Amino acid sequence: MSGLLFGCADATQGRDASEAVFSGSCEGICGGEAPSGCFCDAECLDSGDCCPDYEAVCSVHASCDEDDPEDDDAGDDAPPPGDQACFLGEDRNGTTCLPVVSIDPYSYPSPLNNNYREPIRYIDVEAVDLETKIAPNWKLAEISVPYKGRYQVVQPHAVDKLQQVRDQAGALVMKSGFRSPPYNAEQPGAASRSRHMYGDAFDLLPQSTSQNNLYNICNSLGAGYVAKYNSGHVHCDWRNVSVDPLFYGNLALAPGGPPPAFTLADLTLSIDTDGEVYWVEASGYDTEEGELTREWSALDEQGEVLTSAETLTFEPPVGTALLRVNVGGLSEVEHAL
Ligand SMILES: [Zn+2]
Repeated sequence: MSGLLFGCADATQGRDASEAVFSGSCEGICGGEAPSGCFCDAECLDSGDCCPDYEAVCSVHASCDEDDPEDDDAGDDAPPPGDQACFLGEDRNGTTCLPVVSIDPYSYPSPLNNNYREPIRYIDVEAVDLETKIAPNWKLAEISVPYKGRYQVVQPHAVDKLQQVRDQAGALVMKSGFRSPPYNAEQPGAASRSRHMYGDAFDLLPQSTSQNNLYNICNSLGAGYVAKYNSGHVHCDWRNVSVDPLFYGNLALAPGGPPPAFTLADLTLSIDTDGEVYWVEASGYDTEEGELTREWSALDEQGEVLTSAETLTFEPPVGTALLRVNVGGLSEVEHAL
């Protein structure tokens, strides 16, 4: 306890030090193991293998935040006590908790910073009950499929969003939740930095509402990336919400800035035709999930819509002056006839 008191007096100094990039210290990896082999988790106090700055960087912030209501530094949360992740649960009390393990089973794509960092804790799907209802309408088994990796990340805040989507959209089938990096890498056309590897992405097939309505619901609930696929599912992820410190360590201490996010420039579209039928070639997205939707509108010379259709190929009616195609709900291209 004396260490915590010392740390509180020294908290400002600890924060300043956190501006530095990753090194052998605990900066940015509270709850985990430093590359140099020293540890930054609560157990290191007992085992005596803490990094030299563990108390100044890691244990200080949690105890001082509790004692100091003035300190509202967002994202400065240390992992909650006890190595368990707590979910909304069937009763929406947030007290449905599952054990997590500190382990380093996978290599994540670089750069490992901010919302694309490598997790420090995982759910061991062989050590938990996959039938656990982590939200009123969601069992863990729907998100965590064991053959996609024994160690998985399911972020509680994303499950909260997932339940909100379910509340508004009605019945949904989960087509894909977590994918481990090795599993993801085996899938032809999978995005190299798919959010499915980070535990905040879901592929949802609507059962009682339209694909467009589900798309709109995800967007209205703050999803960072929403895409419609021709198979009928909608990919929704919350990549722009800060990752959970239990799984990813202390956010305020994460080094560097954000990596380049998906931008529309990554999605390349071109309209092609054999003279009668038109189609859109699209590349630069997660083709592992299938083809993005193509929503066609045929406009006449006055700009009035003659007809519209959602099909992969399209034959414009007589009188069409302009073809407009929305791809995946992500981007539009036009082509004058
Ligand atoms: Zn997806």
